[in-house]
Amino acid sequence: MSRIHLSPPDMSATERELLLAAFDANWVAPAGPDLAAFENEFCSAIGVDHAVALSSGTAALHLALMLVGVGVGDRVLVPTFTFAATANAVTYVGAEPVFVDSERSTWNIDPALVSESLDRAAAVGNPFKAVVTVDLYGQCADHQPILDACRRHRIPLIEDAAEAIGATWQGRPAGTFGDISVFSFNGNKAMTTGGGGMLVSSDPDLVDRARHLSTQAREPAVHYEHREVGYNYRLSNLLAAIGRGQLRRPPRMIERRGEIRAAYTTAFADVPDIGFNPIDPRGRSNNWLTVVVLPESEPHLPEKLITALAAADIEARPAWKPMHMQPVFTDREFIGADVASTAFARGVCLPSGSGMSESDVERVIAAALPVLTDG
Ligand SMILES: *Cc1c(COP(=O)(O)O)cnc(C)c1O
Repeated sequence: MSRIHLSPPDMSATERELLLAAFDANWVAPAGPDLAAFENEFCSAIGVDHAVALSSGTAALHLALMLVGVGVGDRVLVPTFTFAATANAVTYVGAEPVFVDSERSTWNIDPALVSESLDRAAAVGNPFKAVVTVDLYGQCADHQPILDACRRHRIPLIEDAAEAIGATWQGRPAGTFGDISVFSFNGNKAMTTGGGGMLVSSDPDLVDRARHLSTQAREPAVHYEHREVGYNYRLSNLLAAIGRGQLRRPPRMIERRGEIRAAYTTAFADVPDIGFNPIDPRGRSNNWLTVVVLPESEPHLPEKLITALAAADIEARPAWKPMHMQPVFTDREFIGADVASTAFARGVCLPSGSGMSESDVERVIAAALPVLTDG
């Protein structure tokens, strides 16, 4: 029996063919036709307007923050419940992340806290420079009240949709809520190129500027002319070819993740006091990861479950450790209470990859059930 990972790449013959076609045409370098094709096909498949393919989601976040004008000394509202990359990118431009707790119904950044924080900061003359939202575990944040607050204060919104490709909220696709939004194609995401990211916007000028900055801000001149500092953040053509293949498959891949969540919720339905990461009916999550939430009365159960699954060669991990609890960010401001920290203490991410077979899912359930029922 092979190891079951949390969310491994799910590749098909299509990705292989496109990769080999690019290779055989020697489009290993430079930026070849697959890059532009990937960007165009991404826009149509995901429902965004303009896109530039980058080397990672983190690079996309870095450029997004620069493009909306966040700089040294600025303060940016960031959800505490996220992967470190969201907060790290804020520090790359010399700005300071201020962490905000989650709301219970989605685990995403609490819109009421965002609105209050923006109002209070403006009232004391120390306004925030931007807001970053995260579509956690593949579920869109409740963006409308956040957007209203941002518009009221003329503050840009960046949507970190790294985990949420293919998700929607009230019919609107993830990645269309931010002034700039970003996706990740890291190896464990619902769609992957092995490593990569996409910056998207409805504003073509912003995307053009991101493309310029991602290629060392090189001016169109034979002699390598530069008027500003740039970055080496472009995606490789070979990885774009893999991305084109993945793009032809999201509906089924996302459906599969939903089936896996349904299998876990059904299997654990009779276990008392057990829940899952909340899904708000206004949205359609891509179910990137299913997180089982264990009873508060048994604080050691998450660790027991992870250990028991590891013994059966199954990968499971705690939910993201909130940023305000991370040693690197302990001196930063945190607004909120204990929603994210409770989810971290009680949540365990279960294998959720779209390549999982029925017997893989059954293996996870069989290894987990005894721990959940006997403690
Ligand atoms: C994965 C992830 C990123 C970073 O993407 P990379 O492509 O790995 O750089 C950023 N934010 C969130 C919420 C993520 O899950």
